[in-house]
Amino acid sequence: MPSAPGGPRLLLRRLREIMAEPVGAQDRLDKIVVLIAANMVAEVCSVYVLRGDGVLELFATEGLKREAVHLTTMRAGEGLVGLIASTAEPLALSDAQSHPAFSYKPETGEEIYHGFLGVPLLRAGNTLGVLVVQNRTYRIYTEEEIEALEITAMVLAELVATGELQALAPVETGSALRRAVSQRGVSLSDGVGLGHVVLHEPRVVVKNLIAENIDAELQRLEEAIGEVRASIDELIERGDVAHHGEHREVLETFRMFAHDQGWLRRMREAVTSGLTAEAAVERVQSDNRARMLRQTDPYLRERLHDLDDLANRMLHRLVGRDMVSERASLPDNAILVARSMGPAALLDYDRSRLRGLVLEEGGPTSHIAIVARALGLPAVGEVANATSLADPGDAIIVDGSVGDVQIRPTSDVEAAYAEKARLRARRQEQYRKLRDLPSVTKDDVAVKLQLNAGLLVDLPHLEETGAEGVGLFRTELQFMVAERMPTASEQQALYSAAFAEAGDLPITFRTLDIGGDKILPYMQSIEEENPALGWRAIRIGLDRPGLLRVQLRALLKAAAGRPLKIMFPMIATCDEFIRAKEIVEREKAHLSRHDHVLPADLKLGAMLEVPSLLFQLREICAVADFISVGSNDLMQFLFAIDRENRRVANRFDPLSAPMLRALRQVAEEAQKAGCVATVCGEIGGRPLEAMALIGLGFRSLSMSPASIGPVKAMLLELNASQVGSFIHEELEHAGSGDSLRPQLMRFAETHGIPI
Ligand code: PEP
Ligand code: MG
Repeated sequence: MPSAPGGPRLLLRRLREIMAEPVGAQDRLDKIVVLIAANMVAEVCSVYVLRGDGVLELFATEGLKREAVHLTTMRAGEGLVGLIASTAEPLALSDAQSHPAFSYKPETGEEIYHGFLGVPLLRAGNTLGVLVVQNRTYRIYTEEEIEALEITAMVLAELVATGELQALAPVETGSALRRAVSQRGVSLSDGVGLGHVVLHEPRVVVKNLIAENIDAELQRLEEAIGEVRASIDELIERGDVAHHGEHREVLETFRMFAHDQGWLRRMREAVTSGLTAEAAVERVQSDNRARMLRQTDPYLRERLHDLDDLANRMLHRLVGRDMVSERASLPDNAILVARSMGPAALLDYDRSRLRGLVLEEGGPTSHIAIVARALGLPAVGEVANATSLADPGDAIIVDGSVGDVQIRPTSDVEAAYAEKARLRARRQEQYRKLRDLPSVTKDDVAVKLQLNAGLLVDLPHLEETGAEGVGLFRTELQFMVAERMPTASEQQALYSAAFAEAGDLPITFRTLDIGGDKILPYMQSIEEENPALGWRAIRIGLDRPGLLRVQLRALLKAAAGRPLKIMFPMIATCDEFIRAKEIVEREKAHLSRHDHVLPADLKLGAMLEVPSLLFQLREICAVADFISVGSNDLMQFLFAIDRENRRVANRFDPLSAPMLRALRQVAEEAQKAGCVATVCGEIGGRPLEAMALIGLGFRSLSMSPASIGPVKAMLLELNASQVGSFIHEELEHAGSGDSLRPQLMRFAETHGIPI
């Protein structure tokens, strides 16, 4: 059996010489195919280049008929060459003609060849063409030969990418095989955005492929491995591993991979065969990416992803670029694509140029999702392989309403989404017209609609939507987007600015709701088996009153004589509320002693999120000025469904009888006690759910800015007493766990209520 006499090292050296020769593009390519054929001991060597129109064209050949050059073409997916281009995987066959994908091109004269080995020309994960060698014999190509041809293909890919071949082709070359890709993820933030891809962490493109000095390259590779290992050790030791989604488990896996002997050996071998250190990393990364795309087991795919990340870290080190993007030069209509991103990083970008966000990670309740919603930025998370599939500058569409992402959409798809975006804009325009109408039902029942907020970027929505104030100001957001714990004066400055922005409208500040899923990157996280049921929110506030006191003082000072509303999260017993209230009283007394102006009117409320409070309603209404139902957590605890776990999060309907009965009790007890009851969880912002809440007796709802319009449109057509009778009647007859959604939907339809 023939074998490559020179090995890839010699071949690469000769290739470098040919690349440097002052000859034309066609001559260079012709020399290269002759060289490769000789080196691989093959009768044929051919290069097919992918054109901008998606067609593969024969650009050079040694062994096939010369007249076929620039004549023979095939579509991606057509024949063996097309198959290699579309799968981006090598194909080795001892008898090419018996393969079902074989397509005969008479002008080439290839019918006499049986042995076939083809590899894709890959650059930064994209296919730019195909390199093929063929033999008359039924040759079985060895692993080493396949590897040698793949390494050679890297160099050719670089030649294609430089654009030198452009002069030889009627249409653009050098564009990768980039089909339209449609991915379904999960919706993080509503809205439709059309624009172009900006990678949050730009990919490194390796240009220097062939080693001049192999020992020196081996040395560089070892140094980069050492540095990456050290940086991972350091991250783990520092303990602030929640930063940028680098959870401990991921880092531990990283550490394991960084010591993986198979991975290291393959990179070292690639350098020994003549590649530079960075080219060797990319070479092994390409294989890994191909495996990743084939892998269907989500756990293994995730691990391959980790390996991909590790390779990226190595590349950034070797090519000497920091892993940050050029945020200053963000183009218009930018759609950010990232594996994961911290909320602070998103806020660093120029919002006016951003049209959307696509993440490979990030669930609907992640911090980044909260910030994206605050910015009104359409966002989709859990989009598999988004950073590998999308190239900078590619057209891309983010549909946050359903969780779809279209990469390089075809023109009809693009037109359909543009229409959808226009329709949405028109609907928004209609909602804007409702802005100044009083928020009352047809039977003259006033329902207060307020906003959920947490960052200053949220507050202009007050003006836009005509909301009657901020019903929930999530103060933890300032802490979550900061690099370190905000100081007392920074907290006060934010609250003062919020007051200033809100003008005469009231704001209900919620004290720090951290713990559980809300992790502060700079705070030592404690290991808990069940963080949702763990040391969080008011529990931290009462056990470590220092933090709570600082915040309360900042709030009292920022109010500077204006009315102030404060509420406490995750209250489980009346006693907890009373203790929190005592801390407020102490702070008030302290400020009075120091001649500070106290708020004109101070109202203290309890969030109802823990079911135990449902059984202390009379008592809590007697001591609290108001109650705010956090339905997100109440649902979680009432039905024992982790709100972060997609397997179970939507298992039960908030419009089911148990939840509605619990809410009815809250509304009734609060009304009896003369205590205001608001709903500030997600359900308050969905028109059908909001309709049910009004029916149950709630007269105050707080929601995300985008929900104000649809909820107001609903209630303007609603008769509150009618829906009240309807829902009470339905609840009498509902089975224990039945959802009332279908009945409520029918009620809305028959009464012409827009949902
Ligand atoms: C809730 O639990 O419904 C709520 C409003 O609080 P958060 O979503 O911030 O936990
Ligand atoms: Mg909550």
